[in-house]
Amino acid sequence: MGIVEPCKEQENLQVSVIRSSRKTISLSVNEDGSIVVKAPKYVRDAQIARMIERHKLWIARRRRESEQFRLDLSDGAALMLFGKRYVLAAGRHAVLKEDTIYLPKKDRAAALIALLKNLARITMTDLTHNIAIQYGFSFGRIRITSARGRWGSCSQAGTISYSFRTAFLTQTEELYVVVHELCHTRHMDHSALFWREVAKILPNYLEIRKGIRAKGVIMRWL
Ligand SMILES: [Zn+2]
Repeated sequence: MGIVEPCKEQENLQVSVIRSSRKTISLSVNEDGSIVVKAPKYVRDAQIARMIERHKLWIARRRRESEQFRLDLSDGAALMLFGKRYVLAAGRHAVLKEDTIYLPKKDRAAALIALLKNLARITMTDLTHNIAIQYGFSFGRIRITSARGRWGSCSQAGTISYSFRTAFLTQTEELYVVVHELCHTRHMDHSALFWREVAKILPNYLEIRKGIRAKGVIMRWL
């Protein structure tokens, strides 16, 4: 991997170039806003710089889109939790009050994780109980984990685990995760029967799932 000197107007652009035996050039913008160019070995840096210049409008748009998927823990930064917007501010302890999340100056990420674990425990437990009562599901206990690979899981014994990262989802998306795991207490697989069960409660689950998948980057936060 090499770094191409960006042109003047693009001084703030971080461009990584990966050269290989491929035959075409590809340009992509990562979730962190950095740019990756994959190019054949013989393509010169100047040619790549010209291509970036030609696509600068598209790049700018993609970078704006990716901004909402970046975690900023500085004072004044906004954070979407449970579908609601909060602003971060300095405080002695990690606490959520009205529209503000107070975080200590030191070890902010760890303090936020502890806060989100508590909040996710309350939210996901309430939601699970409500849906279980409404639709007649029974389950074992609820655990809150730091899982990165999945939003939730359900064991054979009926223990339902949720990643604390579900706090970053909207309420509808959290509802989907809860319904998904509760349906696993009836079908331990992703069979047609399982999805029929999910669809009975959330007919638009495919659309919700698409929204959640687009937020996969959250798994790499914190
Ligand atoms: Zn599943």
